[in-house]
Amino acid sequence: MTGGTGNSVQQDNPLAFQTWKVNRMTEVEQEPRQSACCSRHQSKHVSSRLQPVHSSRTTSHDSTSTMPTPFPPSLPDNKLMCDIACDFCFDSSPGKLEEAGCAICGQLTPSSNLTRLKSVKQCLHILQAQGVTRIERKHSSKPIQEYKGPVLDYRCDSICDDCQKRLQNRHVPQNALANGLWIGAVPDELSSLKFMERLLIARVCINSCFVRVAASGLRKMTSHVIAFESPVPKVYHRLPPPVEDLEEILAILFTGPCLPMDKDYQRTPLLVRHSYVAHALEWLKLNNIYYADLEIDYDELAKYPENVPPVTIKYHHLLTVKASMGLDSTTCTKR
Ligand SMILES: [Zn+2]
Repeated sequence: MTGGTGNSVQQDNPLAFQTWKVNRMTEVEQEPRQSACCSRHQSKHVSSRLQPVHSSRTTSHDSTSTMPTPFPPSLPDNKLMCDIACDFCFDSSPGKLEEAGCAICGQLTPSSNLTRLKSVKQCLHILQAQGVTRIERKHSSKPIQEYKGPVLDYRCDSICDDCQKRLQNRHVPQNALANGLWIGAVPDELSSLKFMERLLIARVCINSCFVRVAASGLRKMTSHVIAFESPVPKVYHRLPPPVEDLEEILAILFTGPCLPMDKDYQRTPLLVRHSYVAHALEWLKLNNIYYADLEIDYDELAKYPENVPPVTIKYHHLLTVKASMGLDSTTCTKR
């Protein structure tokens, strides 16, 4: 039987053909499983789950070898379950999940791929660059100065493996802050701005937005963004821009069972606070080279309302927030 083909066996002895067929199916079933696993898992599988199948092959001449592998297969033994639990705990340990910034490129990197900055201390001199950094100024009378030493994010004390490898070969990493990518810490004057206020300090408008606010029960806000052509033809030399210009880049739709009130507007990032916008523009003019020639138009800023959004608001009457946008509704415009 072992030396003939399947057809010859079938013709000579139908029962023997069935035995040969079952054994062949067992072999074909085992091969892809073993090749797809890593060597560690392969040893586990062979020693536990595939052990009964392997035993049946070795006793193929017995009468019991004609029995197919039982389904469902037997439960994993205690050793395999212990290995699975240990591997899960190891792969989900804090050391595997924690991330920290790289002092050279500033990118968030898993802690397991970070090395202490001190390990490349002798190579840091190649990260020195002129005209990249800038010390924050609080007044225009202070001179413009740069930080001394290599361009690093000094809030981080580790470096990623890629930066370490490039630095040890005496090359500046492609994403290094020293390659003109340094921006420094974001000041409170900018980080505290809301969505509408950030539109007012932009010298160019690269997109337009449609914002929908559902103001009943659970409040939510969704938006769509449309990108303008590039290069953008309009660059503002006076900020904030005229109120009328905002109509071209922002549209707001409120939906709900009643007209939005002032308290509804205050829950959105669509209001303008004069003092925050003024402080942000003043900080940019002092510390950002691209805002050095900017004129701050305080008169235009005073025209912006503070209790309602500065653009036309569309309102759709809906009984529930979950109602479809396609339902018939009453529409009015409020400013
Ligand atoms: Zn890095």
